[in-house]
Amino acid sequence: QDVLVDVQNVKKYFPIKGGILKRTIGHLKAVDDVSFHIHKGETLGIVGESGSGKSTLGRVILRLLDPTEGSIQFSGTEISHLKRRHFRPYRRDMQIVFQDPFASLNSKMSVAELIEEPLLVQTSLTRLERKEKAIEIIEKVGLRAADRLKYPHEFSGGQRQRISIARALITNPKFVICDEPVSALDVSIQAQVLNLMKDLQEDLGLTYLFIAHDLSVVKHISDRVAVMYLGRIVEIADKHSLYSNPLHPYTQALLTSIPVIDTDENPAPKEEKIKLTGDLPNPANPPSGCTFRTRCPLAHDRCAVERPELTELEKGHFVSCHLYTQEK
Ligand code: SF4
Ligand code: MG
Repeated sequence: QDVLVDVQNVKKYFPIKGGILKRTIGHLKAVDDVSFHIHKGETLGIVGESGSGKSTLGRVILRLLDPTEGSIQFSGTEISHLKRRHFRPYRRDMQIVFQDPFASLNSKMSVAELIEEPLLVQTSLTRLERKEKAIEIIEKVGLRAADRLKYPHEFSGGQRQRISIARALITNPKFVICDEPVSALDVSIQAQVLNLMKDLQEDLGLTYLFIAHDLSVVKHISDRVAVMYLGRIVEIADKHSLYSNPLHPYTQALLTSIPVIDTDENPAPKEEKIKLTGDLPNPANPPSGCTFRTRCPLAHDRCAVERPELTELEKGHFVSCHLYTQEK
């Protein structure tokens, strides 16, 4: 299978300024040495609490933020060092759908203007060609052609998210980063939008990076899932291995918080599950060794002094936790 997006050892550090002179006194390691790849046509889910660095990672891949270090390849081309101007040709192929459609849509622009704007900026299509494309994509996302003339506030949250999706897809991208696109929606609407995104993926041959803060949202849409904690991937695996055999205590805790319906075919697990306690530590001052140790019920001496490496335990199933590796 072809790799479309290849991210290797990417870091994004933000300087922390302090003192009267506002000098740099440290760094917030929002993304700290992250590597993964996404195949063509695949969906990689990325899950983590707010503050885990998942949105920053998405913005770095799309070059909305410059990476501090590391390699990002898109279709075999290194894009991590491209200046804004040189990145423009790739921008059409790589789009993003944000969480809050109300905040990301300019309320003074009509739906037609909003959806056609990327074509205006990124292509040289004529007015008529833009209009035709807009009508085509509006209908594809389940709105009516006549809705073009309305304004965002005339739509429900779910419909507004469809407008954002249309805006992202109108340039025929190959790759779409979905940054919590359904988190702000009611549960019943979430399923509709997720199904739409899945249908569009098949229809248009899209590759997705799907960011979410809980494992239930990405379960149906993802092929593989990565779990992030304080800027690092702590576990990454094929969806089925991750949900049936979570190895990292943090992943286990996240799965425990998804309600299980106890039926005969699907009995709720009896054994004591790992509960997540406490808050995410300050990312500007993370714990030594394993950064999860302050919340991990299985933490032991080694966890405070040695940082666990992401290690492949089964084919394609990687975890970073000392429970699975020998002390060197
Ligand atoms: Fe818990 Fe230690 Fe594993 Fe970290 S390395 S997850 S603290 S057991
Ligand atoms: Mg976010």
